[in-house]
Amino acid sequence: MYTRWRTYSSYLRERYGRNVYRIGVDGGFSCPNRRPDRSGGCAFCDGTGSVAVYQRSSESGYSRNSGYDGSTAERILPRLLSIREQIERGRAFLARRYGAEEFMLCFQSWTNTYDSIGNLRRIYDEGLSAMDFRSLIVSTRPDCVPDPVLGLIASYITPSRDAWVEFGLESACDGTLRYIGRGHGSAEYFDAVERAHAHGLKVCAHVILGLPGEGRDDFVRTASAVAASGCEAVKIHNLHIPGGTRFAREYLEGIITAMSEERTLEAAELFLRCIPGDIIIERLVSETPYHRLMAPRAFPDKSQFLARLERRMEENGTRQGDLCSKAHSG
Ligand code: SF4
Repeated sequence: MYTRWRTYSSYLRERYGRNVYRIGVDGGFSCPNRRPDRSGGCAFCDGTGSVAVYQRSSESGYSRNSGYDGSTAERILPRLLSIREQIERGRAFLARRYGAEEFMLCFQSWTNTYDSIGNLRRIYDEGLSAMDFRSLIVSTRPDCVPDPVLGLIASYITPSRDAWVEFGLESACDGTLRYIGRGHGSAEYFDAVERAHAHGLKVCAHVILGLPGEGRDDFVRTASAVAASGCEAVKIHNLHIPGGTRFAREYLEGIITAMSEERTLEAAELFLRCIPGDIIIERLVSETPYHRLMAPRAFPDKSQFLARLERRMEENGTRQGDLCSKAHSG
């Protein structure tokens, strides 16, 4: 059990009185930051769209025909059927491995609000009708959440079910966002968080530590932005460079690099120290499957990394939030 930061599992136990597990599904969405032939996109994105480990057999199981137009009820049927199957596969996997009994439904692959409002309703309805989920979690981009979509997600909140949106911020530095080809700036993130909160939604921000050209000052700036936005949770990733990406080419050309374990520990500790203690830390390290990962290759697994981070913070006498006022004033 980690004591130096507010863990996701401790939050879930506080909130629900027991462990609750996330079933990640791929709703067949695409991404507005990629061209129709799926080229382009963020420099670190290999186009696999964060598919959950137990769903990877379905990575190319049906076509991605979503967008803001043209999707008919007939076209959406395979997606609805697939969602049912994925939920059952995820439930069975989590029950077998962890004895899981309570679940949250997470639309986690690609941009899960990038579709017509009618299709979004059908897809979310289909997923939520499979069982009594404790949360609906929708992962998306901050520039892809018009108010009617936020209103739709908020309409699923009940006394026993929360609704979350997860926004990729990645960095608060607009120069970095331009370099990595995000297609939005930090202003869109702040606007999206404010509107999500106005709809009663909870927000988790995704950030990446170790993006090209960034150092300690940039990590502090991003942590301060996350804190200032008032989001409830954050997922922290160390930069992974998967094969087949623009970053992979730049890595091979010697233009960019990935942080070592020591530098990642240092960056994660600093970031945590600049994040208020009440923000939930949902993730602290990336988990790209090893066969797709070009760099970093020499890196401990997640549990070893977290144990080393905990030990380091214990030895240094540091904890989440202990630099907050300094970060804000800087
Ligand atoms: S927004 Fe997400 S899915 Fe789209 S290119 Fe970027 S990382 Fe990939």
